[in-house]
Amino acid sequence: MSEDSPGGRNKGGGKYQGGDKPRPYISRNLGADKPNVGAGLTPARQISAAQQTSPALEIPPAQQTSPALFNSAQQSFPAHVNPAQQTFLEGLHQLGVKLTEQQLNQFLQYRQELLDWNTRINLTAISDPDEVLLKHFLDSLSLLLVYDAHHARLLDIGAGAGFPGLPLKIVRPHWQVVLLEATGKKVRFLQHMIEALQLKDVEAVHGRAEELAHKARYRASFDVVTARAVASLSTLLEYAAPFCRIGGQIILPKKGELAEELAQGKRAAKQVGTGFKADIPVSLPGLEDGRRLLVWEQVSTCPEQFPRSGGVMAKKPLGLP
Ligand code: SAM
Repeated sequence: MSEDSPGGRNKGGGKYQGGDKPRPYISRNLGADKPNVGAGLTPARQISAAQQTSPALEIPPAQQTSPALFNSAQQSFPAHVNPAQQTFLEGLHQLGVKLTEQQLNQFLQYRQELLDWNTRINLTAISDPDEVLLKHFLDSLSLLLVYDAHHARLLDIGAGAGFPGLPLKIVRPHWQVVLLEATGKKVRFLQHMIEALQLKDVEAVHGRAEELAHKARYRASFDVVTARAVASLSTLLEYAAPFCRIGGQIILPKKGELAEELAQGKRAAKQVGTGFKADIPVSLPGLEDGRRLLVWEQVSTCPEQFPRSGGVMAKKPLGLP
C-alpha cells in the first residue's frame, strides 16, 4: 500500500476515494429491474464447491459462526473469534466465497508476512492485523461483486503489496493474474508471497504500466484490469485501456467525493476506447465507508499512442474540460 489505500495516508489523485452506501450483491443491483445499469457485466455468483481446488469450508452467517470453524485450520484464528474476524467471514459469505482450509491458511500466512515485511519495507500503513482482514483482504475481494468467473486473466496495476490481485488469486485459483508494480522492493515481496503460498499462474512484474502496455505480450490481452489507490481515474484509464481486450472490464475501486474526477474520467474514456458501465457501491460488513467500484468496458481497440509517457500524461492529462 499503500499510503493511499483505505486506512492509509491519502495523497492527491492516487487516493482511494469512494462513495455511497449500497447493497450487497451486484446480481441484485444490476438485475433486470435496472435496465442498462451494468449491462454486459458478469453477475457475482457463488462458484460451486466443485469448481474449487479443495473441499470448501461452509462459512455460516456471522451470527451462526462457530468458533470451532477456525480451529480446523492449522494457523487458525483463536478459538474466541473476535468481531473483526467474524466480520471478515460474514463479508466472504456475502460475496459467495467459501474458503477452503488451504485458502484460510494462505490468508493467515499472507497477513503474517505482510506485517513482518512491513517492519523493514514500507508496504502498508495498516498495522492492525484485524484491519488487514477487512481493509486489504475483504476490500480486495469486493471486486467479485462485479466480476466473477471460473477462468479470467486479470491485471492489477500498481499492486503494491498485492491488493487487490493477490487475495483474488487466492480465492479464484484458476485465474491467471499479473501483478504489475513499479517499486522493486514491493515486487520482491510479491514474488516471495507467490512462492510461499505456492500459487501457480500468477506473476509479479517489475515495471511501469505506461511502458509495459506497449509490449505485445500484454497489450489487449486481459479480461479484467484493476488498480487500487494508484492514480486519478483519467490516468488509470489511460494505463488500463491498452491492456484490456475488447469486451473486457476495467474495475477501479474508489472512495470519497468523485463528481469532477468521474466527469473527467468519462471524457478520457472516450479517447482510449472505453465506455463507462456502472458505479457500484460496496456494501460489505466492516467496509461501510463509501467505497465503490467504477466499472468500464473496453468497447474498441485503444489507439496505439496510449498510454503516453509518464511526463506527457502528467503535463496533459486526458479528459480535461
Ligand atoms: N494497489 C495497492 C494497494 O491498494 O494497497 C498499492 C497502492 S500504492 C498507494 C500505489 C502503488 O502503485 C505503488 O506501489 C507504486 O509503486 C505503484 N505505481 C504507481 N504508478 C505506477 C505505474 N505507472 N506502473 C506501475 N506501478 C505504479
